[in-house]
Amino acid sequence: MAKKFSEFSFRPEIMRALEEVGYSECTPIQEKSMGPILAGHDLTGMAETGSGKTAAFLLPILETLQAGGDDPRAVVIAPTRELAQQVAKEAERLSRHLDVRVVCVYGGTGLGEQKNLLLAGVDLVVGTPGRLIDFARQTYLRLSKVRWLVLDEADRMLDMGFIKDMEYVMSKAPMSRQTLLFSATFPQEIRDLSAQFMNEPVHVEVESPSLTARNITQFAFMVAGAPDKIRCLKELLRKEKPEQALIFVATRERTAEVADMLRRSGEAVASISSLLSQVNRERVIHSFRQGKTRILVGTDVAGRGLDISGITHVFNFDVPHDPNDYVHRVGRTGRAGRTGRALTLVSPQDRPYLKAVEAHLGIKMERGEGSGAETGGETERDRSPRRRSAGGGGGHRPSGAGRGRPAGGRGGSSGSGRGSAPGNDNRRRRGSRGAPTQGGRSGGRGRGSSGSGKGSSGGSKSS
Ligand code: ADP
Ligand code: MG
Repeated sequence: MAKKFSEFSFRPEIMRALEEVGYSECTPIQEKSMGPILAGHDLTGMAETGSGKTAAFLLPILETLQAGGDDPRAVVIAPTRELAQQVAKEAERLSRHLDVRVVCVYGGTGLGEQKNLLLAGVDLVVGTPGRLIDFARQTYLRLSKVRWLVLDEADRMLDMGFIKDMEYVMSKAPMSRQTLLFSATFPQEIRDLSAQFMNEPVHVEVESPSLTARNITQFAFMVAGAPDKIRCLKELLRKEKPEQALIFVATRERTAEVADMLRRSGEAVASISSLLSQVNRERVIHSFRQGKTRILVGTDVAGRGLDISGITHVFNFDVPHDPNDYVHRVGRTGRAGRTGRALTLVSPQDRPYLKAVEAHLGIKMERGEGSGAETGGETERDRSPRRRSAGGGGGHRPSGAGRGRPAGGRGGSSGSGRGSAPGNDNRRRRGSRGAPTQGGRSGGRGRGSSGSGKGSSGGSKSS
């Protein structure tokens, strides 16, 4: 039986907000991490995608935060603008009966408005690293009063692309701060690296049968070659009839290409990548959130954190090269107790990456029938002796099962009541979790060192 929020003795203003947004029981990560955070501990929290990590760090902060200072007491950093905006929204929702001032800072838009909000006094800042550091350097954002520093998608925030920025922020925030790291994935090297930013952290982990959320059913479709992918994708969209689908591609250039090809067959499709202007990015996400766009083609810029309840299907048009990216991508579906389907298209070139994903997760995905079979090309299905090993049936299942929303999904009363999903073949114990992924790390400096600022910049980095 999951804990009720009332057992944490939150202020009445918070309890009222929780009631209004429809959270009654804690999800497991909330239950396990809110106590230690309230008690003042540094903490790393790891739990599957869509399991309520945002509220797990926001609620204890909001409980303790004294509103009304000039400089922020709480800072939350997220890797993309869309995620920062989403987290800020959740903070506003949960603090709606408190006087807490939440400001979201992110790049791609003028400094003026965000600057004025900061100057007016702020309690909680949510932001992407680039803009946050710009403001910190210009002293519109002083970090000297920071009591809580949260890295959402922490493994991403501490990887090569962002580590210098994080060192800078850590160096400006007081040593006495509480540092909170949350993610669905924590490669060992990031765990090791994070130790130096934290003070005797409590590690909280919600056991999950696989790294991927338990209620996502995963399939791999073998296709003969790249040109077959689009045909296979169209066919799958027809068969699966997703309520909403998010399609991941490898490069930003390819987002528009794939979107155009789908559009030609009459689909209402949008695309998102860092090639779009910020205004357009927001427009696209807004329309997708509203359910006005059914199909969105995107890069990994949409891969982390986004919580859009209508996404019943995630497609990987390409197999991601880092298995952790796979976990986050497919985690855009199957959130808050709902079920979802993840379908990955695998060309011969993709096969080593599929292998890596399966090894990392310790699962063997069920093989579905790709269009390669229709075109007569040789496919993995044709050759693989294991092709029917995972689910018996071999061919892909009709999509009926698992779609739709079980009672108690978003806004329902059982955020933590995520029963085992029927038809999930991905339950084997995780395999090489924590194995190093790619590349080396620059040695981060410890807390209190003066970082050298935003030297490095990752490819898809958002500011
Ligand atoms: P994560 O960060 O773990 O991927 P989120 O914090 O984005 O997950 O939450 C996923 C969804 O679950 C959101 O739609 C959120 O509103 C919902 N949610 C969070 N906590 C609860 C709860 N206690 N009860 C019901 N729904 C919840
Ligand atoms: Mg999250």
